Amino acid sequence: MTADGTNSLEKPVLWLDEIRSDDIGLVGGKGASLGEMTAAGLPVPPGFVVTAGTYRAFIEGTGIDEELFDAVDVDSDDSEALSAAEERAKELILGTEMPEDVREDILAAYDDLDDGEAFVAVRSSATAEDLPSASFAGQQDTYLNITRDGLIDRIKHCWASLFTQRAIYYRNEQGFDHDIVDIAVVVQLMVAADKSGVMFTSHPSSGEPKIIVEAAWGLGEAVVSGSVSPDNYVIDREAEEILEATVADKKVMMQRDEETGETVERAVPEDKRNARVLDDDELGRLTELGERAEAHYDEPQDVEWAIVDDEVFMLQSRPITTISEDSAAEAAGGEGDGDLILQGLGASPGVASGPARTVGKLDQLDKVGEGDIIVTEMTTPDMVPAMKRASGIITDEGGMTSHAAIVARELGAPAVVGAGTATDQLEDGRVVTIDGEKGSVTEGTAAPDEQTDAVEEVRPENPVKPMTATEVKVNVSIPEAGERAAATGADGVGLLRMEHMILSTNKTPERYIDDHGEDAYVEEIVDGVRGVADEFYPRPVRVRTLDAPTDEFRQMEGGEDEPHEHNPMLGYRGIRRSLDRPELFKYELEAFRRLFEMGYDNVEVMFPLVNDAEDVVRARTLMAEAGVDPETRSWGVMIETPAAALSIEEMAEAGIDFASFGTNDLTQYTLAVDRNNEHVADRFDELHPSVLRLIGDTIEVCREHDVATSICGQAGSKPEMVRFLVNEGVSSISANIDAVRDVQHEVKRKEQKLLLDSIR
Ligand code: PEP
Ligand code: MG
Repeated sequence: MTADGTNSLEKPVLWLDEIRSDDIGLVGGKGASLGEMTAAGLPVPPGFVVTAGTYRAFIEGTGIDEELFDAVDVDSDDSEALSAAEERAKELILGTEMPEDVREDILAAYDDLDDGEAFVAVRSSATAEDLPSASFAGQQDTYLNITRDGLIDRIKHCWASLFTQRAIYYRNEQGFDHDIVDIAVVVQLMVAADKSGVMFTSHPSSGEPKIIVEAAWGLGEAVVSGSVSPDNYVIDREAEEILEATVADKKVMMQRDEETGETVERAVPEDKRNARVLDDDELGRLTELGERAEAHYDEPQDVEWAIVDDEVFMLQSRPITTISEDSAAEAAGGEGDGDLILQGLGASPGVASGPARTVGKLDQLDKVGEGDIIVTEMTTPDMVPAMKRASGIITDEGGMTSHAAIVARELGAPAVVGAGTATDQLEDGRVVTIDGEKGSVTEGTAAPDEQTDAVEEVRPENPVKPMTATEVKVNVSIPEAGERAAATGADGVGLLRMEHMILSTNKTPERYIDDHGEDAYVEEIVDGVRGVADEFYPRPVRVRTLDAPTDEFRQMEGGEDEPHEHNPMLGYRGIRRSLDRPELFKYELEAFRRLFEMGYDNVEVMFPLVNDAEDVVRARTLMAEAGVDPETRSWGVMIETPAAALSIEEMAEAGIDFASFGTNDLTQYTLAVDRNNEHVADRFDELHPSVLRLIGDTIEVCREHDVATSICGQAGSKPEMVRFLVNEGVSSISANIDAVRDVQHEVKRKEQKLLLDSIR
């Protein structure tokens, strides 16, 4: 029965205010949750639910049920049969007319919303019977900006989402019947937000009674997807006082195009860019709403909100899953007492003080002693021994994915990169403090308790490793970091860069072989990999073949023979160089053969900077010729160019076992932003929608072809990217050593949220 006493089973649609939480079997998790919020008096945008009974009446009334269930009764291990089953189910549901009376009822309900002119969101809402497969199969269809014309079709698409390959697979594997599961569809008015954001009704890590609000102009997608830095407000609930209002530079906003209804990104008008989004009155209204939601659900909530024409709406409310028992300590912060000398990018967190040592040429490395701060234009692999002695690193050039940034993070040494004029400004011996989180270099020494020991873990607040369905691995660039990396409890190594094993000898491969012979060269690689493979055994270790640009090789002995290139990043590196010099590449492959022969069956082979299937086939052939069997060994490629992402289908057909996103290069090549050029560092955005689209589409194709996906670029350590990838169904995420624990928790939170979304 519904709130008005009529029999809800008979109604094809139920309005949100007619629904009660025990209607979940009829309206699904989402529908029930929205109904509950509406009943609690929270301002939810109006809408209705096309009930699960309507879906049932449709398949049974039109007589397609028998054929439908026959079509999806397939062997789950047969991926072609699964794909054909999905296709057939879709055809049946989309191709069958909806009975006229049902269609009229739905359109009549739509017409009651905002005079029949409305843009609506149409979302599938899994019912109690199907919650497990809905959550594990990621079955959450959402269609935005739908009008009257497209409504019926989108509802049918939501129904068809019951039969995605993953959902069929899951139910078949678990022995659940397809004919007992139903699905409801939520149709809700879209609000054209003037401003929107998220709100935590209590502090998301400590649980203190403080409300945190993030706000940006326009629709909420900008905040939720992380494409804009929002304003941040902190409100003390007890004292009813705004403690902090941090106004961000908000460059872009999402808006609805009046004509098409599509969501478009627009520049924020100049006068609003640095203006406060929320005034005190609006913050007061949000605080009151947050308190009501928390009181209603009896636990702290994570709320999505929007304001349109001065009216506040709550779009979603979920429990906060991040509050830990022993409230999180603030991350290491602080800075020297002195004045700010330089500001760069915070590339490796932690605080260190010491005398500056400016180094240019290799022969100056000796002057770096224990505890000094290295100051250099840009670090190179041969500087690693000096970087290990130093307590911190400052560079003039480079961004978050430069050599200095990567190695500093692995060593656990604070680093500030891209500081511009450090080598000019910091004379030898001047005592400075660097803050690798804030990117600042200040005069003098920080208090001892603010400094971070270079080898100590920087973030002790998450001591426990959570179990996650998505694997969390770790990146290792210098074999010396293997032990520290293994101690994180990561599920394996997602990227072990081979070049550091070679370049740290300070010789190009050619010169090394001339001086010491081929065998010594192969053994140099075997030794470097073996150290890490031992630490992790039997966890997998993905080793990447050589990928260094010619400008890095040029600084080595033998570098004078390197070609001069105007743009080494677009030049002779990665698999291009290897395929062009098979007589040298074969020694790298021989190292793999020896490792496998020694029993390191946890080693995997990864090829960098491939562009297409031809690159892949040629590399595979050389690998087979070197005695490494592509059929039995795990091998794959990095996705680092748009071409590679767009050729994934053909590469999958060429037999790769995995594809790993090298977002440092993928971002550089998609946005045409040199990753080492600090003048454009603010444009280097791994979360740019174009980069995300390439990644999302690649994951989808890989899933169809049973190819595992991963990320091993720097962005895998960013929470926004982690949430995006888990949502897309990535197989694993590889993070920097210092970020592994946080990423494990972020993955866990996102997986729990996906599960909760499907039940609420
Ligand atoms: C990448 O491009 O993201 C990557 C991991 O490779 P590298 O940083 O070594 O180019
Ligand atoms: Mg790369």
